[in-house]
Amino acid sequence: MNSTDAKGVMVVLSGPSGCGKDTVLNRLLEMDSRIKPSVSATTRKPRCDEIEGFSYYFLTKDVFEQKIEDGEFIEYVQYDNNYYGTLKTEVEREIRAGNVIVLVIEVKGAANIISKYPDALSIFLMPPSTTILEERLRNRGTDDENTIKKRLAIAADEMEKSRIYKHVVVNDDLDKAVRTIYDIIKVYASASQTE
Ligand code: 5GP
Repeated sequence: MNSTDAKGVMVVLSGPSGCGKDTVLNRLLEMDSRIKPSVSATTRKPRCDEIEGFSYYFLTKDVFEQKIEDGEFIEYVQYDNNYYGTLKTEVEREIRAGNVIVLVIEVKGAANIISKYPDALSIFLMPPSTTILEERLRNRGTDDENTIKKRLAIAADEMEKSRIYKHVVVNDDLDKAVRTIYDIIKVYASASQTE
């Protein structure tokens, strides 16, 4: 993408837990230095490979609720008994810098963003099937059986809501899905520049 472009773009990327959103995001970050991740805040406990300020800002419930009261989030939700939210500061910084900021968030938060910011580019990453999604959730070995069951139930609901997104991309081949998403972002970013 052209580094002289001045106007930033907000991209919302959703998809069920285990569908490969984080892998896709990491690949996009390697492909283009203008693509930046939005680091969310959460009250969930860090997983063993997660880093504060990089994977998430890990907050206590009290601190998170104070930030809600202070209007620091552009969206937040309760998901699987924890809070997750996108901080205004994360998005504003990159939009001002003319970058592409990618929010990897679940469907309810995405619906809030889509109605508040109709210009946002929204993409839903669809797993090839629920059986494959279940396999991926088990294989990553980060969640217990109860969590996996809850996440599969949430996934079914999320896939049904995929119609609110501007684009749905099936992740049956990672390279292909990444390339498709990158092309969608590129076209959208250049169209925003000429508006
Ligand atoms: P996980 O616990 O697996 O990291 O995330 C659970 C779900 O929360 C995922 O679908 C993830 O994309 C979503 N999520 C992460 N950050 C945010 C956020 O700031 N807002 C919303 N609405 N969802 C988020």
